[in-house]
Amino acid sequence: MSIPRHTPVLIIGSGPAGYTAGVYAARAALKPMLVQGMQPGGQLTITTDVENWPGDTSVLGPELMARMEAQAAEIGVELVVDTIAQLDLSQRPFLATGDGGAVYTADAVILATGAQARWLGLESETRLRGFGVSACATCDGFFYRGRTVAVVGGGNSAVEEALFLTNFAEKVYLIHRRDTLRADRTNQQRLFAHPRIETIWNSAVTEVIGESDVTAIDLVDLTTDAVRRLPVHGLFVAIGHHPATELVRGQAVLDDEGYVITAPDSTATSIPGVFAAGDVRDKIFRQAVTSAAMGCMAALEAERWLAGPGLAEQGMAETACVA
Ligand code: FAD
Ligand code: NAP
Repeated sequence: MSIPRHTPVLIIGSGPAGYTAGVYAARAALKPMLVQGMQPGGQLTITTDVENWPGDTSVLGPELMARMEAQAAEIGVELVVDTIAQLDLSQRPFLATGDGGAVYTADAVILATGAQARWLGLESETRLRGFGVSACATCDGFFYRGRTVAVVGGGNSAVEEALFLTNFAEKVYLIHRRDTLRADRTNQQRLFAHPRIETIWNSAVTEVIGESDVTAIDLVDLTTDAVRRLPVHGLFVAIGHHPATELVRGQAVLDDEGYVITAPDSTATSIPGVFAAGDVRDKIFRQAVTSAAMGCMAALEAERWLAGPGLAEQGMAETACVA
């Protein structure tokens, strides 16, 4: 076991929630350590234009996150390139272990691990992932110049993926299981106005066809049960995300969908000294600005907790509330 590195506040995650928590914790002289994880910058690094971040009419997602990282580093957040594999919240200080074996101890923890893409769950989807099946148009859209692609989903991500793919693809199908979209009005207007996007309503993908590459998808019409094969070269799955709460499962109280439950008007979890911010605890708003706001709240709450009961509790055995 490597020699533990101690920090008053360990922030896990480098999305808008994590970086904002870092800025506030650093300004409170808490010497925060922020572990960036497998996706430095979080979900916004896989999108293009962000048009609803305050102060920017339009900014590229990766650029915005690079600025947040630079601000955090400048203000004194210690950025750590690692992914936490285990988190023991039953002892004080809390104990985190990186996937390479590095050990971190912390008086308070801010969980800002966000969310991960959700998949349809088809065997053929898994087999062809990276060979025509993707959850990231920004990453893979380039490969579909002049080709035909389909996007599954009816939220903002699906609509934005479909619009983005028109930069490359000749034809884009948007496949949605209902007859109304969840995406906001502006996105819907852009989608419906686009001449090369066709929306297929009330339909589900039942199979991805192809040996080494995607050649088609099978669709079922959920109102008639009619099945048809649609030739496409790529399938982009944009059906939402699930919260990255594996680290605290069985330790902190989670809801039915796996989101961390926090106290009302607070980021405090069921475990004193552990705070949760961003998409990991929010299934309603899931925005960069709300995640950043929760990061701010978490750092302020961690500061207050450390100044009050937190330090008094060091060394005391804490019985964690288990989901
Ligand atoms: P995330 O951004 O999900 O970041 C999670 C972080 O946790 C990552 O850095 C990851 O590496 C880290 N992590 C996870 N597990 C571990 C671990 N075990 N150890 C260490 N680190 C870990 N919102 C908007 O407001 N405007 C938009 O235009 C917009 N566009 C979007 C486009 C797309 C395609 C998507 C998918 C989302 C978009 N969103 C948008 C939503 C927005 O990206 C999220 O609400 C926001 O990024 C959530 O921030 P977060 O900090 O909670 O988590
Ligand atoms: P989302 O809003 O949860 O939408 C997921 C979509 O996928 C829904 O339309 C859902 O259908 C569909 N779906 C879910 N499971 C499915 C399945 N198994 N098979 C087929 N379809 C399925 O997710 P999101 O679009 O990724 O957005 C996540 C959050 O980020 C949202 O809060 C969104 O507003 C935000 N975001 C914002 C922007 C922006 O502001 N510009 C851009 C992207 C994302 P139903 O509608 O039938 O449930």
